[in-house]
This record gives sequence, structure tokens and C-alpha cells, in this order.
Amino acid sequence: MSLVDLGVPLPAPPPPDGRPPADGPLVDTFGRVATDLRVSLTDRCNLRCTYCMPAEGLDWLANDQLLRPEELTRLLRIAVTRLGIRSVRFTGGEPLVARHLEDVIAATAALEPRPEITLTTNGIGLAHRAERLKRAGLDRINVSLDTVDRDRFAAITRRDRLDDVLAGLRAAKAAGLDPVKVNAVLDPATGLDDAVALLRFCLEHGYQLRIIEQMPLDAGHQWDRGKALTAEEILAALRRHFDLTPDPRPRGSAPAELWQVAGGGTVGIIASVSQAFCSACDRTRLTADGQVRNCLFARQETDLRDLMRGGADDAAVEAAWRAAMWAKAAGHGINDPDFVQPDRPMSAIGG
Ligand code: SAM
Ligand code: SF4
Repeated sequence: MSLVDLGVPLPAPPPPDGRPPADGPLVDTFGRVATDLRVSLTDRCNLRCTYCMPAEGLDWLANDQLLRPEELTRLLRIAVTRLGIRSVRFTGGEPLVARHLEDVIAATAALEPRPEITLTTNGIGLAHRAERLKRAGLDRINVSLDTVDRDRFAAITRRDRLDDVLAGLRAAKAAGLDPVKVNAVLDPATGLDDAVALLRFCLEHGYQLRIIEQMPLDAGHQWDRGKALTAEEILAALRRHFDLTPDPRPRGSAPAELWQVAGGGTVGIIASVSQAFCSACDRTRLTADGQVRNCLFARQETDLRDLMRGGADDAAVEAAWRAAMWAKAAGHGINDPDFVQPDRPMSAIGG
């Protein structure tokens, strides 16, 4: 097995002066190129998923800490026109609680070259916004849903809102968002049963299921490696009910290992912990308060908000973003003995 198979990138030859290039693609010292930007629009959320947030919520960012709409659109323009970003995913917290979502999408869709625009949402409120989001320029959507059992949904999210999510999924499909993907993080106790029911549900409705291994990014730092279900266990459970064959299409930088289901449809399993895919990572991240993160698990951030508020021009913001990505570590290190969970939980980084 090679280092790349293990998720460890091979270093690119360093440039002569050891500094990030001043132009061209957004690269790191391992030669990875970031073309996919994840933007968290807010750290707030209307659910309280146990693997993400405590029941009482978190200390939300204050309004003056958040990027103003014009600051955000400026950063999006710099990302697309100067840094080579080709796809933008809006997330959170819950991006549908950000009232300016449609405006931000429309501004992103007006950029040249137009990036692909996607959204990760819990689906609450999507039923009446899917049409508008599509009209604003949204191309694709991922809706998070960990179970189709109403009681388990309420236990996992601490809110009885399954029907809203199901209505949101239907509206997304009806609005022509294609494909509609369903993201699931499985509960350690009931997750294997939930996965089977979720796949049946997704195949029946024409949604594409993606199951994600639970990661140590919960606000309560309760993640337990011994309890979290692995991709291998999930696959074995699905195989007891479905005939699955590996999808022959090249995976590229996509994190999901895709399986074709006999009779039609696919299912993806994202083994973020047990089989890291850091060597193929093409992401850069922007938090709702304007910090660039070069990895979900980064322990350092670069403050573009205060740089802009201090009067920096586009070239200075671009250089700071390039320097942040240049410093990206080889891998997330979850499996290292000295791994330390980042201070920000998933909801404040943007998943
Ligand atoms: N609120 C939106 C949602 O739930 O889709 C967007 C933000 S949420 C942080 C983005 C994705 O991260 C969701 O699919 C969620 O299930 C996933 N997520 C949250 N905490 C996680 C964790 N500890 N491990 C793995 N995935 C997690
Ligand atoms: Fe909210 Fe998404 Fe976190 Fe659930 S996973 S609490 S929906 S941010």
C-alpha cells in the first residue's frame, strides 16, 4: 500500500524561495490544488443534532463578528476570479436560517467564470424556498437526514421535525435540483438499521444517499472511536439487504466511495476517519466570521474579515488566503496518537 493509498499526500517539489506562488492555482506544499470552497453562512441552527451541538445550543457569533453581505461577496469574487475556485458550497450552522442566502447565491451565480453552486442543509424550511433557491442559481443540494424513523429523528436532532425535512426533499426535487443527495451520519446504536431503511427510502424517491462516518467535531467532545460506526460495518450491513457492486467511474477528489445497487441507484460511503482521503482533498473553507481554514481539523485560521476591515486591497486578501492554504497539513491526523480536536465544532466551521 502506498502513502497515497493511506491518505497521505506526497510533497510537491518546494518552490525555490519556499513561499506560496503569487498567482495561479491555490496550492499547498504537497501540490494539492484547492478548487472547492465551503462557505459557512451562519453558526446558528434550528436543530440540535447530538453529534454536532449540545441541547442548549452554543454561544452564537455576534452580528458584528459575522461577514457583512458585501464582505462575503467580495471574498467570493476574489476566490473565483483570482484563486481559481470552481465550486462553492454554502453550509453552516443551518444556511436556510441566513436570510440573505438567495442573494448570496445570485451574486455567486453572476461571477465569471460561474462556479457550480451547491447547498448543504438540514431541510427545515426548504419546502417553501427550494423554487427560489433554484431560480437564484442553486445547482444541487444535499439534505441531511440520519433516519426516516420519526422517534429516532426526534432523539437524534432533539426536535420533532422529520415531516419538514421530508417536505423539503420533495420540494427540492420538484424544483429541479438534480441530483438531490441525502447526507446521513449514523447513530452508533440504531444506525445500521437506519442505513437500510434510508437506502430503501432514497431508492424509492430518487435521492442519492451518502453515509458519512461520524468525526470528532462535536461541540461536547464526546466522540468515541470505539462506538462510532465504520464504513466497513455500514457496508456489511447494507450488503445483507442489497446487492452492491463498486461503481466503476473514477472517484477523483470525491470523498464518497460509490456503490451501484442492483435494480438501479447508487449509495456512497464516506470513510473520513477509517480511510482518510486527505491526499485528494481539493477544499478550502471560509467561516461565517471570515476566517479561512485549510482543513476541517485545522488548529489555525487566517482572519480575512479584519484584514478587509483594516483596508486591505484585493491583492493583500488574495495573498493571505494563498498563505493560509500553503500551510495545509498533510492529513487531518484523527488517527495519530497526539490528535487534538479543533476548538470550533462542525457547526461553526461549516461541514
Ligand atoms: N445544518 C446543515 C446540515 O445539517 O446539513 C449544514 C451544516 S452541518 C454541520 C453539515 C454536515 O455535517 C451535515 O451533513 C451533518 O450531518 C454533518 N456533521 C455534523 N457533525 C458531524 C460530525 N461530528 N461528524 C460527521 N459529520 C457531521
Ligand atoms: Fe444543525 Fe446541521 Fe449541526 Fe444538525 S448537523 S445541529 S442540522 S448544524
